[in-house]
Amino acid sequence: MAFPPSFIDELIARNPIEDVVGQRVNLRRSGSNLFGLCPFHGEKTASFSVAPDKGIYYCFGCHKGGGAINFVMELEGLSYPDAVRNLAERCGMEVPEDEQYQSRYRQQERLWALHKEAARFFHSQLYAPVGKAALAYAIGRGMPKSVLIKFGIGYAPDSWDALIKALRSKGYTDEELKESGLVTVSQKSGNLFDRFRDRLMFPIIDIRGNIIGFGGRIMNNKDPNAAKYLNSPETLIFNKRKNLFGLNFAKKSKLGYLILVEGYMDAIALHQHGFDCAVASLGTSLTQEHAVLISRYVEQVVLIYDGDEAGQRATRRAIPILEKAGIQVKVLKMRDAKDPDEYLKKFGADKFRLLLEDSSNRVEYQLNAIKSKYDLREDDQKIRYVHESAELISTLPSSVQREVYGGRIAEAAGISTEAMQLEVKKAYKRRLERERKQQEKIDLAPVQSLQPKVRTVRYDNMKSAMAEEKILANALQDPSLMDQAKGLKGDRFSVELLGRVYDQLYTLYKNGLEVTLAAVADLTPEEMSHIAGVCQRQDGPVSETAFTDCVNTVLGISQAAMVSTDADLLAFRNKLRESKGTKS
Ligand SMILES: [Zn+2]
Repeated sequence: MAFPPSFIDELIARNPIEDVVGQRVNLRRSGSNLFGLCPFHGEKTASFSVAPDKGIYYCFGCHKGGGAINFVMELEGLSYPDAVRNLAERCGMEVPEDEQYQSRYRQQERLWALHKEAARFFHSQLYAPVGKAALAYAIGRGMPKSVLIKFGIGYAPDSWDALIKALRSKGYTDEELKESGLVTVSQKSGNLFDRFRDRLMFPIIDIRGNIIGFGGRIMNNKDPNAAKYLNSPETLIFNKRKNLFGLNFAKKSKLGYLILVEGYMDAIALHQHGFDCAVASLGTSLTQEHAVLISRYVEQVVLIYDGDEAGQRATRRAIPILEKAGIQVKVLKMRDAKDPDEYLKKFGADKFRLLLEDSSNRVEYQLNAIKSKYDLREDDQKIRYVHESAELISTLPSSVQREVYGGRIAEAAGISTEAMQLEVKKAYKRRLERERKQQEKIDLAPVQSLQPKVRTVRYDNMKSAMAEEKILANALQDPSLMDQAKGLKGDRFSVELLGRVYDQLYTLYKNGLEVTLAAVADLTPEEMSHIAGVCQRQDGPVSETAFTDCVNTVLGISQAAMVSTDADLLAFRNKLRESKGTKS
């Protein structure tokens, strides 16, 4: 994605990091930095920092960081060129024609248009003679015409090439058909076939309103091996880890929370009954990306998964993922029906609203899950029930919560509240002891704890790596220091990533461009976060001698230089401890 460096240079200059971040995060100044609540993870104390002079942001809690372009990429879920476009628009700059980007964007636009065309075709087939049975099925499932139109539901005929013919007649090439994922290619003959055959079709629409894929429910099950639901494969425009069915509608809901369900039918039934905040994950378990996406719109989610074991497992998995994104989770357990669709049909919206009001918070849900494991008529099982519940209660931050839930367990187990309180205290002590031991382990192996969080980056030569970090941080603060670097090149660095960044900074400097981290290209988000962390941790005055010492260390020139980096190592370790302390 080669935008001209001079264009990126101006783009960054015209989009100061504090303004770009400041539009989304409330920032308070503290020294040369600004602090606020991290938009990427839930927290109550500010560990998200912005350094205007360095042009970067960095979170000491979740370790995300980077420049203005990265911030927009992370927050809006955009690709690099799209984030550049977004910032260019923000400051009224024209994006230079970049062929690679233009062609990729044109390709995306073609695929969106192709999907729209496919949706039109499927929808028309639902009302054609071939779609008679499917239409009857949809209506039988309680979907009136208005709903079929609102969600763009259609029918893929039982044919090998009905869609292919329709799309070819609209001028789409075989290459484009293959890229859309709506066709499969025969390995033997190379011929194209419709992927979706004899299925009720649900368009998947992204938050910008583009159709990006389809889910299809099988109608007449002739093939016993055919999946009941089939989704589009991953394509240039469809990533199921980042999209939720129904979010294009739910994001406009005034209800103030989201209902997360398993299936399209459940989500549609909820919308139909006035719960316009329902979304469904697309045949995949909930991901961190989903949670971040959701947290942009609401602070509360009601989870409704099916009552079977698989559904319960999915619930247990989803709770911590959502909580990590700062979302408050409630869990609704289905009663007298297997899913929301069935429930609404049997009992109606008012009854469902009661169920929703009754949905328990995740503590209640987890306590109930523990309770269901034990037979409380047996003494030994009762003891294990109390023990396990006490473990969970001991993790609650508020003493009121601990007392209320402790009281309930005591009652269920038929023991005194005092005995229960004692159990919780013991569990609390056990947990502290476990945590202390873990911390001890970390302290005894400091080099391990200094390893970067990025999987692809390892510090093998810790002394050199610490010096390399300092060189980068100092060069960013005072680029002219690079003149003293004795021709240092990135390939002399022990850490490939740090060397790569150094070379780019040097090139910027030599070309008279602004030397900022934001202008460094071709880093993965993890790599960028790591570099931002390196720069934010190294705060303090820049000195020429310290810089030269570091260069010597990297070049292996003087043993004396090692002394100063030893002190650096110690200082860095202390900084790391401090930053851990500010984690929420
Ligand atoms: Zn964070």
